Amino acid sequence: MSQSDNPYVLVERVRPVPLEDLDALFWKGLTEERLVIQRCPACAAFQWGPECVCYRCGSFDLRWTEVPRGADGRHRGVVYSWERVWHPVDPSLVESVPYVVVLVELPDTGGVRVLGNIVEPPDGPIPIGAELMAVFEHHDTYSLLQWRLRTGAAPIGCRSTTAHRS
Ligand SMILES: [Zn+2]
Repeated sequence: MSQSDNPYVLVERVRPVPLEDLDALFWKGLTEERLVIQRCPACAAFQWGPECVCYRCGSFDLRWTEVPRGADGRHRGVVYSWERVWHPVDPSLVESVPYVVVLVELPDTGGVRVLGNIVEPPDGPIPIGAELMAVFEHHDTYSLLQWRLRTGAAPIGCRSTTAHRS
C-alpha cells in the first residue's frame, strides 16, 4: 500500500475548519491579526476553547472579544509549558522538525491558555514564564496564531535556567 492509499496517513498539512456556530470568529480574527476569544457578559470571564456555555457561571450568552494588547499594541503571552518535537508524527511535518509546541497563558484574561508554536526558537531550554508576542502566520485561506520569544525579556515567576555563582 502506498502512503497516499492509506487513509490514516496525511499527505498534506491539516487545515483548520472553522465551525460557523462555534469558533468562526476566532479564525476570522486571526486573519485580521486580532486574537479574539469568548467572554461572558454576565461574569466577565474569558474562556478558551470555544463552548456554548460559560465555564464559570453557566450563562449561554457568550460574546467574542479581543484579548487585551500590551503597551506596544501587540498581543502578549507567557510560557506556561513547552515541548520540542523531534519525531514527525505525520509525514507532512518531516521538514518542520524539530519544532517547539508551547502552552501560552494570556495576561489579563484570568489565566486563559492557548496552544501554538514558537517561531525561530532558541536551541536550548525555554524558561517557564518567559514573555512572548503573538505572530500571525498567514496561509492561503486561513491564518494561525504563533508566538515569538521577546528578546531581552526577563522570565516572570520562574526559576532561572542559567547557572549562578555562589
Ligand atoms: Zn459567565
